[in-house]
Amino acid sequence: METARKFSDKLKDILDKKVEVKEDESQTRNKTDISSQDVLAIEAEENPVDNIRNRQHLIRDKRKMVVTNLEIQADRMKSVSLANHPIGKIGETVRIPIPDVDRARSDLRNILGVILVVEDNNYSIGTKLGKLQQMYSRNQFTICKQSMVAIDDVPESVEVSLRECAKKSSCVGDQGYNRCFCNQKCRTKKCKCRNNGKLCNSKCQQNQKMQMS
Ligand SMILES: [Zn+2]
Ligand SMILES: [Zn+2]
Repeated sequence: METARKFSDKLKDILDKKVEVKEDESQTRNKTDISSQDVLAIEAEENPVDNIRNRQHLIRDKRKMVVTNLEIQADRMKSVSLANHPIGKIGETVRIPIPDVDRARSDLRNILGVILVVEDNNYSIGTKLGKLQQMYSRNQFTICKQSMVAIDDVPESVEVSLRECAKKSSCVGDQGYNRCFCNQKCRTKKCKCRNNGKLCNSKCQQNQKMQMS
């Protein structure tokens, strides 16, 4: 009997606590939802035409609240982003990652450039091979601590895309390996690699033969 009584006491305690929590929740809800409570109270008294108007007012208020809250959230996101990506200055060296589809497997993962112009948080970036066509936002590149590309190194009036830039700075070609099928030594322009001004790589016919033997 005693154990049963203890158990029922415990159950009561738990239930009391739950009720308290529920009351707290309802209080907080009341704080945020005062207008809707008011509307419901008024609805009970007045006629249906006013009810519709009240509800429309309520919807308008809620929409305004949503807009302000969205703006607050956007500001918060922007400040976090600014903290992670400090603003770049003209003349600073930056590192732009080359997309995987634009580079051969042995190529560099990044291209070094220099900030030429800053416009509305968009950056125009120049490389040693020319100015890049598109504008970049701050999250698309990282700023290097040391300056390795000067603004004077960027050839004027030459515009290149990032893919072209990756292609030109590559030693084996772009977008996958280029290879030759020479049976002789690759000394003439008949060799595809030599003709393109590239070095032969491990996939070339000549080198494969050497690997086999
Ligand atoms: Zn060859
Ligand atoms: Zn080759």
